[in-house]
Formats: sequence, C-alpha cells, structure tokens
Amino acid sequence: MDLRLKECRFIDAFSVRIFVIYHFGHRSAWVGRLNTTPKPFYWERPGKTLSTIIDGKAFSANLRSEIARKIALLKQNHSLTPGLAVVLVGEDPASQVYVRSKGKQTTEAGMNSYEHKLSAETSQEDLLQLIDQLNSDPDVHGILVQLPLPEHIDESLVINSVAAEKDVDGFHLSNVGKLATGAEGIVPCTPLGSMMMLKHHLGDLSGKKAIVVGRSNIVGKPMAALLLKESCTVTIAHSRTRDLPAECREADIVIAAVGRPEMVKGDWIKPGATVIDVGINRIEKDDGGTRLVGDVEFETASAVAGAITPVPGGVGPMTIACLLHNTLQQACRINGIEVPE
Ligand code: NDP
Repeated sequence: MDLRLKECRFIDAFSVRIFVIYHFGHRSAWVGRLNTTPKPFYWERPGKTLSTIIDGKAFSANLRSEIARKIALLKQNHSLTPGLAVVLVGEDPASQVYVRSKGKQTTEAGMNSYEHKLSAETSQEDLLQLIDQLNSDPDVHGILVQLPLPEHIDESLVINSVAAEKDVDGFHLSNVGKLATGAEGIVPCTPLGSMMMLKHHLGDLSGKKAIVVGRSNIVGKPMAALLLKESCTVTIAHSRTRDLPAECREADIVIAAVGRPEMVKGDWIKPGATVIDVGINRIEKDDGGTRLVGDVEFETASAVAGAITPVPGGVGPMTIACLLHNTLQQACRINGIEVPE
C-alpha cells in the first residue's frame, strides 16, 4: 500500500501569516510562524535549531478531500457509495464526541454513515446479533465498534465478530496477522496516520533507528510493525524498559504512545530526530481549566527535534481521516474494484 499522499499542502487556515510569540526568560522570544506556502511551519528560536511542526490538521484535511474525490469517482463510475456503521454502547461522553465527529466526517466525504447507539446495559448477545446483521448488510462496508465497551462485554470477542473484510480498525486478528507478516491488509488508523505523516516528511525510512514508546495492541505494536515494514531498526519500549531516556536518544524517529502527560523530555531527543506524539492527555491548568497535552514535552522537545507533531493538531486529526481511508479500501475490496486514482 502506498502510504504517501501525492500532495499535501500545509495551508494557513486564515490564509495569512500568524505570528505567535512566546516570551522566554527576560528578553528572548520564541516565534511560531505558520507559512501560507505549501510547507510545514517552523518554531524559530534565535540561534537555535528550527523544528518543523508536522501539521496533522492540514494533512488530514488534504487526505479527506482526496478520499471525497475518490468516492465521487466510485459513485460516478460504479454506482457504489461506501457505508460506515459505528456502534456505540453506553453513554461515555468522550466516546459520544468521537462518534459524532466520525459520523459528520463520513457524510462530508460522501459516504453513508449508520450510527447504532445502544444503552450501557445492552447484553453481549444483542450486540453480537447487531454485528451479525451489519456483517450481512450489503450497504455497510465498514463496521467500527467504539471502545471501550462496558465491562460485562468481551471486547476481543466483539472485535473478532466483525467480518474481517468489514474491519476498518485493523483490530481483527486476521488483519493483525497480515500486518505482522507484512501482507496487505487494513492497518489501525492511528499508526497508519502517523506513518503517512512520517513518510511524507522523511521519505525513505530505510535504515533509520526508530523507537516506539508503548506496546499497546492499538498503537504501539502496529506502529512498530509498520516501521519494520519500512526497514527501520525498531526498538519497542514499555514500562519495564531500563533507561528509557538513553534508548530514546539513540533514535532518529521517536513515537510516543504512552498515555503519560509530557513524559518524553527534550533531553531524551537526539538533535534533528523526528518526533510523533500520539498521546492525548487532558491536564489541569493553574486557573482550574484544562488543556490537552501529548506524551512529549513540546516546549523542550521542539527545541531539539528536527520535526515534531503538536498536540492537539498532530496525530489526532489523522485518526478519523484514516478511518475513512480504510472504509474506502474495504468498500472497493468487497466489490472487487480498484481504489480510484
Ligand atoms: P495504553 O495504556 O494501552 O498503553 C500504554 C503503553 O505505554 C503501555 O505499553 C505501557 O507499558 C507504556 N507505558 C506506560 N508507562 C510507561 C512508562 N513510564 N515508561 C514507558 N512506557 C510506559 O495506551 P494506548 O496505546 O491506547 O494510548 C497511548 C496514548 O495515545 C494515550 O495518550 C492515548 O490517549 C493516545 N491515543 C491517541 C490516539 C489518537 O487518535 N491520537 C488514538 C489512540 C490512543 P506496559 O505495556 O509495560 O504497561
């Protein structure tokens, strides 16, 4: 699968230059500049390295519009409209927000969106029955069961009850196996989005040293498999890793997927390395409000890294865009059609 976008333009949302000045110490200042040209933007610190900010928001907007263009071609040439069914069990507020956003972006791309909202008391049997119906519904090409599920439901059983050819999360064991063996299959959305940005920024990854901090099934392990597929030399770190800062300092590529706010510091980063921050953590501010931060301490890491994804606005927006990408892939595969160019 070609993970590279043919074209990715990093465009300032307001089509003007925005200057953000961060006062640092008494006189020196950080200046973040968002270019209007199709380039990433840079954090500039006089006399220090320039760190490219990998703009996931712009990247995902570009990917989504590419997908919408391909869907229009599918409709025109094959009378096929991909359909994505999202199943939400329970009333978890964060999950509700994700599901709403997925539905909106699905229809904006020109696909059909089917939402199934079930109460937290739904039995496992009823959920499996719904999945069965969706598996045999010809209008549904992708099925996503929003995680986490209530405790009385066996998550793994549910994930593997979704037909492998309608799995758009890449969590089905058949797709996990394909990724592990380097075969073509559906790749989990967050690692896929991270890899798209990495390849767009770095080009050939072959021979680069990469570290993935985190070994979860949904991010860390598939990310490591993708890096290996690109011929990186991959280290997978986790909570038992000894001297994690030293391991990170060896890496040309650092992927942080830990779930610990700002754990990875600037002095863990090799100068010029590319940093992909997958983490999304909400922390309290001094004024009692909250803000989102990643697993990387952006301020210190961006002074050392060659390129870095911000939080928010980095990996996050790519996840839903990749969900749409996977749904398009599955709709074409099910119907024996090449994905339009
Ligand atoms: P998990 O909690 O499933 O896994 C966290 C991993 O980090 C584990 O492998 C754990 O190690 C490791 N870890 C925990 N503490 C340390 C430590 N002190 N040192 C080294 N490793 C450590 O998290 P996820 O993979 O699901 O998510 C990771 C982050 O990514 C979270 O912030 C999450 O919110 C975010 N996320 C973002 C997405 C997006 O769309 N951008 C999508 C999915 C997740 P061990 O296995 O030994 O316990």
